[in-house]
Amino acid sequence: MNRLGSVLYNLAPVWGQNLILSGYSLLLDRERYGERFRGFRDLLAKTEWYSENELIAYQDEQLRALIKHAYETVPFYRRRFDEGKLKPSDIRGQHDLPKVPLLTRDEVRAHFGELWSTIVPQRSRKTGHTSGTTGTPLTVGYDDGAIGMAYAALDRHYRWAGCRLARDGDRIAVVRGNVIVPLHQKKPPFWRLNRCHNQLLLSSFHLSKQNLPVYFEELARFKPAVLDGYPSTLYVLAKFLQSQGQTFPLRAAITSSETLYDFQRALIEERFQCRVFDYYALAERVVFSNECERHEGHHVAMEYGIAEVVDEKGWPVSIGSPGRLVGTSLHNKAMPLIRYVTNDMTSFRASRCSCSRGLRLMDDVTTKAEDMLTLKDGRVISPSVLTHPFKPLDCIEGSQIVQIDPQTVIVRLVPGAGYTEAHTKHLVTELTARLGTDVTVEVQMVDSLERKASGKFKWVISHVPLGI
Ligand SMILES: [Zn+2]
Repeated sequence: MNRLGSVLYNLAPVWGQNLILSGYSLLLDRERYGERFRGFRDLLAKTEWYSENELIAYQDEQLRALIKHAYETVPFYRRRFDEGKLKPSDIRGQHDLPKVPLLTRDEVRAHFGELWSTIVPQRSRKTGHTSGTTGTPLTVGYDDGAIGMAYAALDRHYRWAGCRLARDGDRIAVVRGNVIVPLHQKKPPFWRLNRCHNQLLLSSFHLSKQNLPVYFEELARFKPAVLDGYPSTLYVLAKFLQSQGQTFPLRAAITSSETLYDFQRALIEERFQCRVFDYYALAERVVFSNECERHEGHHVAMEYGIAEVVDEKGWPVSIGSPGRLVGTSLHNKAMPLIRYVTNDMTSFRASRCSCSRGLRLMDDVTTKAEDMLTLKDGRVISPSVLTHPFKPLDCIEGSQIVQIDPQTVIVRLVPGAGYTEAHTKHLVTELTARLGTDVTVEVQMVDSLERKASGKFKWVISHVPLGI
């Protein structure tokens, strides 16, 4: 929504806000679900059954066209290729990609103007913002091809989850980062209706013990087939159901944008009596990956972009080894991002999915690089490892781990009924067992946990630069 739209929205009464949301969605609809979307949607329905080699051939063909386009019409790449004495014909396929230097976030920021393709007219250029897990926002440019492909990939994800994402699709309850309800509001409704897309948008910022019963009353009225949101938020809802001894059956739960921990998946599936379908996407639109109905890893949407897992020099690591995720968008002609370095780490899997789709498998992106703890002895600890000490403790409402320096870790904790000093001892002992005795673990009781302005919750916050 533009600034004027936001001002009007904030001034309007609830019914007016519902109307604005629905009308705005109708406008977005044309952009998102237009001709390009339909073309890509049909393509993706076909290509998911291609063999891996056929998919690689598709990627290579798209890549050659993209490199030529970038060299001929994007000043940044023309200069970069010329400086490196690189010609478009040197890149015959993705195996030649390591010849192209990596593109960092800082470079995109510094050379934003030069990264636009000169043949894409101003009116076709769109911009989007990424809140950035590092807290430094970034603006990226894209066009209707990138938007069409992004929604086609999301549409396929919904299809794999047994649901339909469209104007005449399933009823969807969304709990994401949109501030749709003023933060200071104390009384319901903590949601708004988007009639155009059959969506109930619930606020992620008003989830509290007092408010959760009315959230579920509204959900019961709306009867969604799908709940779509951050894992941490869906977990809060599932936890509430558990405390009430209740379930709320759905067809699917869809998660994204944060690390999905096993304990979150298990409780969400138990309480909503459905499977969780996780997907990974970036505002930069270079990589998209998602789980199919077999849940054997994330399929890389190979038609969407080329994903690489590389070491610090930009060389691909072997299959199964972790590295930095780097992506090249295949359909963004307005601002091609070639070998864009994400903040995320993952690894490719050697195994194939039993669904027999040719799209290769990637591990969950469980480890945002900056969420890792780097210790004094250089060890880098994955957040998933730290979840274990918390697992047996049902009496914790919420927790967050903050690393202050290489030797100090603070656990912020919202205690629940039955929490005692013995539980604190257990946590300190178990965390020390994982971090080492030269790390001081301190448990601090708090009333609530902070969310970032985007509404995203980070379970682990480290103030120590990543050691790898
Ligand atoms: Zn599969």
